[in-house]
Amino acid sequence: MATILLEVATPDKGEVYKNDINMLITRSICGELGILPKHANLLTALIPHVMRIKEGGGEVQLFVSGGFMEVTPEKITVLADAAETPDDIDVERAKSAYQRANERVTTFKSAPKSHDDIDIDRAEAALARAKARLLVKGVPIP
Ligand code: ATP
Repeated sequence: MATILLEVATPDKGEVYKNDINMLITRSICGELGILPKHANLLTALIPHVMRIKEGGGEVQLFVSGGFMEVTPEKITVLADAAETPDDIDVERAKSAYQRANERVTTFKSAPKSHDDIDIDRAEAALARAKARLLVKGVPIP
């Protein structure tokens, strides 16, 4: 079966994943993308989500918090802000992050003009990261 090299790296951890894979299912700012070997050149930004990596007859999941992806016919390079395997995700930390962000978003939306101290874009991004982390761990989101 044809393969394409996938490399995922983050500023904190350096390389977090490198392997020849059969397919990557990922979520960009333009929607879901399925990347197969010999894909056309592409450069896009990623949103917080769980990547599905098909390799060697199985599937691996990898959370990425956003970043950039460059695709050539032979190689996929992902430079993510943060990335974790499901085993690496600390559920209690993700739950706390979810609660903090959810509270900020709810407070802001209840009265935006009285809460201009809240950076809503930042809070919504934190909420999306926490949701994606909890999703990959199978934790129900309240
Ligand atoms: P928090 O508010 O808990 O820091 P965050 O979404 O703001 O969450 P990030 O900025 O995405 O955190 O990540 C900062 C670093 O912490 C990265 O190296 C990331 O891999 C790690 N990290 C963040 N949350 C978790 C988690 N729940 N489990 C494991 N590692 C995490």
